[in-house]
Amino acid sequence: MALARVVVVGAGYAGVMAANRLVAMGRSGVDVTVVNPRAQFVERIRLHEHAAGVSNAARPLSGLLHRDVRLRVAAVEAIAERSVRLDGGGALEFDYLLYAVGSAAARGVAGSEHAWSIAGLAGAEALRTRLRQLPVRARVVVIGGGLTGIESAAEIAYRYPSLEVELVSQSLAASLPRSSRPAVERKLANAGVLLRTGVRVTGIRADGIETDAGRLLLSDCTVWAGSFDVPDLARSSGLPVDSGGRLRTDDTLVCVGQRRIVGAGDAVAPPGHVGNHLRMSCQSAMPMGAHGADTVLALIRGERPAPLSIGMVGQAISLGRHDGFIQAAHRDDTPRKVVLSGRGAAVVKERVCRFTITSMRFPRAYRWLPGSPAVPAPTPAALR
Ligand SMILES: Cc1cc2nc3c(=O)[nH]c(=O)nc-3n(C[C@H](O)[C@H](O)[C@H](O)COP(=O)(O)OP(=O)(O)OC[C@H]3O[C@@H](n4cnc5c(N)ncnc54)[C@H](O)[C@@H]3O)c2cc1C
Repeated sequence: MALARVVVVGAGYAGVMAANRLVAMGRSGVDVTVVNPRAQFVERIRLHEHAAGVSNAARPLSGLLHRDVRLRVAAVEAIAERSVRLDGGGALEFDYLLYAVGSAAARGVAGSEHAWSIAGLAGAEALRTRLRQLPVRARVVVIGGGLTGIESAAEIAYRYPSLEVELVSQSLAASLPRSSRPAVERKLANAGVLLRTGVRVTGIRADGIETDAGRLLLSDCTVWAGSFDVPDLARSSGLPVDSGGRLRTDDTLVCVGQRRIVGAGDAVAPPGHVGNHLRMSCQSAMPMGAHGADTVLALIRGERPAPLSIGMVGQAISLGRHDGFIQAAHRDDTPRKVVLSGRGAAVVKERVCRFTITSMRFPRAYRWLPGSPAVPAPTPAALR
């Protein structure tokens, strides 16, 4: 019997999990090729650590992908009915495609080229170099009070106590319940981060940022940790997308109207009854990748795929290497009363980061929390 050719586009948390599980569970009936622009896996959840110079977020994909998965280092430029076009001119044919292209920084603010983005490896690498060059008492302004901005500001402040680190945002930790926010504020203050909330950034310049109050805040190094976008690949290929450009799927992760395309991770929008509670996060990207693989295997076998069912666990924030904050959540992502704070939270967060890598290495054994039986309340898809 001919092998089913599966092309996985993107080797992030969803794509690597999907590719490895396809091979591990596919009983030699699948031929899997992963297409990714670089031969490295980027641990995006460590990019703030990478930028601060306390860890390396890139590791060879050869050490993470199953030995029977082929890697093609290229970017997919277009997806056609049964083939993809690669940059550099090549093409690959597929029987099934798994779309897992992830997310990147949204560059909505004028002058964003003057800021270093923490959302991808190139930006984090450039920021790492820049931080090392800054003189004592230089000002670093981090834009964005979400979890990524909080982690970045704290990490930089602890690693470079001689720099003046400021976090500028309209709100702080809006994804946490009100009762948990003061603790995070205190921890940022302990790290030496100056907080400036209630401020909307209207422009970024080489020497600082402009705010809605008409002020210029001077900055020697501006870090963008604002909102995130998805690549335009699905839209430009004529596939169905939501208003944010995410691939629209049914509740089994099969693309709407395209039975040979399955989606997983940040770049995908499953219907609300199974997906409204799923924040852009590796917490949802990895089970989506595993479920996407199971869906492809069911389609190959001519079976009906199962609906997606993922329960969230909580939000884990690192604040430097020795402090952290963990907010437990119900499966529908509404907060529980349980929190963990301090050194213990930092240890748990580090274990979570390591667990993601271990899970991708043992895809057959990987399990996740099922979704809540009740229909979850709609919440906007925010990063993490
Ligand atoms: C600093 C930071 C900290 C974070 N911390 C956490 C955290 O603590 N917990 C958590 O759950 N989440 C966290 N996140 C979010 C998390 O990293 C993302 O939600 C997660 O990476 C999404 O996984 P993914 O597989 O969908 O996409 P990604 O991991 O982004 O992978 C997508 C892959 O697709 C590739 N790709 C893109 N376009 C193409 C193309 N055209 N052709 C081929 N390949 C392509 C990309 O190069 C990339 O390798 C954090 C994010 C950041 C930036």
